[in-house]
Amino acid sequence: MSPRRKPTVNVHYRADGWTLPDYSDLAGCSPNYQRGLNGEPACTGTVVWKVVEEQGLVQTIRFYCDADLPAHVRPQVDNCPNCPRQCVQPAAEYRGDVEVSHLYRCPACDETWSTNRDLRAYGEAA
Ligand SMILES: [Zn+2]
Ligand SMILES: [Zn+2]
Repeated sequence: MSPRRKPTVNVHYRADGWTLPDYSDLAGCSPNYQRGLNGEPACTGTVVWKVVEEQGLVQTIRFYCDADLPAHVRPQVDNCPNCPRQCVQPAAEYRGDVEVSHLYRCPACDETWSTNRDLRAYGEAA
């Protein structure tokens, strides 16, 4: 029996907010759909996170404001290697089965860099 393949999750950050795939409007926060069903007020935060999950041929795209991004998909912040700026948000994250890559761009000095983490070393890969 082969183990079930874990979905690939790519997380993208955009400070201005994401538009819908057809560019007709700004994307809404994905949890708002459930909030609407529950009769709760929708959040109006800027949707800065796009989470693309791929499992086989199925692709699921969700959008989140910063407050609603699930903790388990939140990319790690890093410090700029070129200037004193700290806690730089990744511009993109690419998550594979055993490795996760983050791309960073420093808002202060425009330095770009990337990091690779081996998930097995952190015990995150199941
Ligand atoms: Zn939200
Ligand atoms: Zn910098």
